Amino acid sequence: MTDDAAATPTCLARPLPGPDDGGAGCAAARGVDGRPLHAAALKFFWGPMDCGKSTMALQMNYNHARQGRRGLVTTRIDRSLGPQVTTRIGLAHTAVEVTDELDLRALVRDTWAEGVRIDYLICDEASFYDVAHVEQMAELVDGYDVDVYAFGLATDFRSCLFPAARRLFELADEVARIQVEVLCWCGREGLLNARVVDGRVVREGAQVVIGDTVDTADVRYQVLCRRHYRSGDLGPRA
Ligand SMILES: [Zn+2]
Repeated sequence: MTDDAAATPTCLARPLPGPDDGGAGCAAARGVDGRPLHAAALKFFWGPMDCGKSTMALQMNYNHARQGRRGLVTTRIDRSLGPQVTTRIGLAHTAVEVTDELDLRALVRDTWAEGVRIDYLICDEASFYDVAHVEQMAELVDGYDVDVYAFGLATDFRSCLFPAARRLFELADEVARIQVEVLCWCGREGLLNARVVDGRVVREGAQVVIGDTVDTADVRYQVLCRRHYRSGDLGPRA
């Protein structure tokens, strides 16, 4: 738990009131609005770049919304560099930008206070969030009965886990590798995200270089199989 979470009175016994519970607290709220208690879950869907994570995130949001559930989409450092989730196949959705200062619990509480019950969060690009945000996700599930679906990379260009991804692996109720296959140039399944600078695989530098640099500038990323990530072989067309 973070210091912040530890200092906050636990929500399990008496969560902050939602918009439709008359301030009576969690147990009464569920009874009054007829909203069935359900076993909320924290799920982490991970995969390399280009495997369709954001597309799947928006599809999941669509599926839940169709069932009458209310959700929020959050992101950080989307390729559009704006407060929205965009996908390489052209889908887009407005999203809440996750800053260092943003508390996901406060985001849900504030939305409830506006009269909108939030049933779930879709957290795109979650590997770029802070570890504290992942702790907040867990509390939203356990204390607020809000489902949290996180999507992101597992490892950075050095093939090391992002801190937030590590925490998601540790805390999530369910972890799933996204099954849309991204292939290495050799035909093997792509696993790792190589950073390519001036045509060479680099293994040192800042963990995150912002923006969608694919096909532009001197820095780009290429998904490789483990064998070719390790050898630094970018293939015949590199
Ligand atoms: Zn390969």
